[in-house]
Amino acid sequence: MTSALSRHHFAIEALADYDQTLLLGRKYSTGRECFPFIVTTGDFLRKIEEPGFDPDKAAFFMPLASGPCRFGQYSHIHRVFLDRLGHKQVAVISPTSANSYADIGGASLKLRIRAWQALVATDILQKLLHETRPYEVNQGDTDRVYKKALAKLTEAVEKGKNLVRLMKQIAEEFKQIKIDRRERKPIIGIVGEIFMRNNRFSNDNVIRRVEALGGEAWLAPISEWIYYTTQRYKEDSAAERKYRDLLKAILQEKVQRYYEHRLEKPVKKLLLNNEEPRTTEVLQYSAPYMHFSFGGEAILTIGKAVDYIRKGASGIINVMPFSCMPGTVVAIVSKRFREDFNGIPWLNASYDGQEDASMLVRLEAFMHQARQYRDKRRFG
Ligand code: SF4
Repeated sequence: MTSALSRHHFAIEALADYDQTLLLGRKYSTGRECFPFIVTTGDFLRKIEEPGFDPDKAAFFMPLASGPCRFGQYSHIHRVFLDRLGHKQVAVISPTSANSYADIGGASLKLRIRAWQALVATDILQKLLHETRPYEVNQGDTDRVYKKALAKLTEAVEKGKNLVRLMKQIAEEFKQIKIDRRERKPIIGIVGEIFMRNNRFSNDNVIRRVEALGGEAWLAPISEWIYYTTQRYKEDSAAERKYRDLLKAILQEKVQRYYEHRLEKPVKKLLLNNEEPRTTEVLQYSAPYMHFSFGGEAILTIGKAVDYIRKGASGIINVMPFSCMPGTVVAIVSKRFREDFNGIPWLNASYDGQEDASMLVRLEAFMHQARQYRDKRRFG
């Protein structure tokens, strides 16, 4: 399957239409599963029900991760659903975090490099969006430029165009947006579970809500997770004396850094949050709160929160699915964390797809505290 993937061209579609899919996902789950599982199951089912869906030409992508939570089960249960629905021929492609997703695209190094560049470029675009939009003079300018840039990026990835050159163009387009940044708004770091923090339907548009309440939201990048899996691949290979794998992991990290550096360079001056810490740094930041062997998203959430505070954040939102295991661990640790950072405002925001009016009230109170924290920081 994987070698076939590397030899042919495939039409790939991102499934993300929350409004319709949540109901479908709920129909096929007991309600006790993790929220991202329910949403992604609904996405798969909606695709299957679409007119023209051809099971002989379809495959779903659901990666695997080992670690202290339920994510490793998703693709197995999706397999069971597909079988029960009579779609045994539909593959579930599940590269694993254990080798930092080395199986993506089979032997195609080119595809992996392309995918990495696309991912980093998307993270950068999001940074440009989130650091510009709160200051735009003409409402809607930033969204317009962002959407255009994203469309260009998608096309460039599909056609194999030079992404560094494109980032230079995109930087120029963002520079043209009229902004008023005489006063920097309170910066809020959005950390937490990777699916929820990135899926605006699932997190009730938390970034827009922060902006509407007078803040600037910084979203932890997706590349953070890939770097982390590379780091773990390196450490695990060394521990198990698998030197070939160790070498692969070292080279992989070098290649990742190389492309990240090249893609970041054209936009660096436009961003305050313009450099990602190394995974080892993030792990050091989280070490006082969690042993590194705990692994996974909890450790990154804490480490990233420290990074954001060092860069000037005045508040942290830990976005998590309701009853998320790593998210709950972070919520417990957050009390001590706040004490160590002069009582920095911290909101543990858990979502389950239901409307929650109390969350808005909590968010308003949180933003008020963040403004006070920012002022205290500024004026001592
Ligand atoms: S990170 Fe949380 S929501 Fe995601 S699979 Fe693990 S326990 Fe579930």
